[in-house]
Amino acid sequence: MKEENVQAPKLLASGDEARVNEEALARRAKKEPSGKKHRITLRPFYCKGCGLCVDICPTGVLLLSNNKRSKWGITAIKSAPDFCIGCRMCEHRCPDFAILIDYGENLKGKEPERGKMGEASHG
Ligand code: SF4
Ligand code: SF4
Repeated sequence: MKEENVQAPKLLASGDEARVNEEALARRAKKEPSGKKHRITLRPFYCKGCGLCVDICPTGVLLLSNNKRSKWGITAIKSAPDFCIGCRMCEHRCPDFAILIDYGENLKGKEPERGKMGEASHG
């Protein structure tokens, strides 16, 4: 695991440090950066630091970190966002809606057109 892959997020106060999850780092070590830019939105207000997202991420993007700004004192962080493949497993696993992947991007082009609902209901 290369040290430069661990990036301290801006939301952390000084003194907060990522907690190393060896399994997540081992998964990441087997991967290459995805070459895609997926938007990972973390909502630390909702995050209780359970680590479920860290455990399920197939590319070791996420880690836990002490976070003085969280009432739980710990939150998930984006440790290596370049490795994100956009699978959204973390989003679906999080019980607290504290992590969103490509928020907004998923909805593009999926909004129903005006009148479509009415047309469908009339067969
Ligand atoms: S983002 Fe969700 S799954 Fe991940 S540590 Fe926070 S509460 Fe747990
Ligand atoms: S979308 Fe997939 S690869 Fe990206 S952080 Fe979530 S679990 Fe990891």
